[in-house]
Amino acid sequence: MARKGASRIAENSNANKKKFLAFIIAACAVLWALHSLHSFLWPGGEARVADMNRLYICAETGQTFHYSLKLGDTIPVMSPYTGRNTGYPAELCYWTKDGGTSTDPTPVLLNGYKGLPGPTFCPVCGRLVVGHNPAPGPGVKPPPTEAEYRARLAKREELLTDQRDR
Ligand SMILES: [Zn+2]
Repeated sequence: MARKGASRIAENSNANKKKFLAFIIAACAVLWALHSLHSFLWPGGEARVADMNRLYICAETGQTFHYSLKLGDTIPVMSPYTGRNTGYPAELCYWTKDGGTSTDPTPVLLNGYKGLPGPTFCPVCGRLVVGHNPAPGPGVKPPPTEAEYRARLAKREELLTDQRDR
């Protein structure tokens, strides 16, 4: 009898934990939605500032230009070099070949925008460039070069086959 009671209490506290977790997740979702809405509606908001006067790169000419997204704009945006919608957001690479940082960032057009498969590597330093490319800072390691990236990929595949064979 006493035992039954105890397990019921355990069950209850488990259910409470689950409820609490669901509540936290829901609260996070609401906060995130509010934040997005706020950035969207507030012209001075963080996201808007980042979108304003952003650097774009023309897929056909490789030239860069600054552009501020307006309501109703779609990507690609009109490039002043072609007069057509061939402008894509440029990612900035701040790295050098030897893993140092450069004060003069390289604008890079991501492969995904060009409709090419596979990861993008910077034409200047040869390192991996991703969307919202991280800028150097304390604790930020330089991204892998193409050779390092392929080696890592091969190693990961090796590990996976190892696990599969076991
Ligand atoms: Zn680079």
